[in-house]
Amino acid sequence: MKILINGIQSNLRFSSAHIIPGHKSCGFIHGHSYFVDVEIEGERTGDFDFVVDFNDVKKYTKAICDELDHRFLLPVYNDLIDIKDFDIKKDSIFDLKNQKSVYFKIGGKGYSIPSVDCVFLPLPYSSAEELAKFFAETLAKKLSESYDNLDYISVCVNEGIGQGAQFSKNFVE
Ligand SMILES: [Zn+2]
Repeated sequence: MKILINGIQSNLRFSSAHIIPGHKSCGFIHGHSYFVDVEIEGERTGDFDFVVDFNDVKKYTKAICDELDHRFLLPVYNDLIDIKDFDIKKDSIFDLKNQKSVYFKIGGKGYSIPSVDCVFLPLPYSSAEELAKFFAETLAKKLSESYDNLDYISVCVNEGIGQGAQFSKNFVE
């Protein structure tokens, strides 16, 4: 059986700024009011014959939304973003968090922003596609700690109403 959680109605939302380097229209800093839909399929089990407790799914999803809310999303593995004093191969994302400000270049443009205003994502892009994958993988890992009856999770990250990217992932045995 499958459970569905609607992001708008369950308040699984975040508003963030981002940039898609190199893209004709999205290569400028802009924002979205995102919302996140979640589907989970698995066997019903436990005291209440649930697939999964809605409260758990909402709590974990909301926690990720809150991390990203009102921040600039910076994908540190993007080839076109040149972050000053940061080497992907050697340095950790925590180093960036600990800096007061982060400086980066995209093409000929230079940016400076306080680190507390950013979320440093271990991703190549802050696109809806990559965010959906990030949510699905993070949620699958978290839910696996307390559930062993789940088959798959599918997360849709919507960039406002009308467009979103959905990523599905099987739970591993
Ligand atoms: Zn965008």
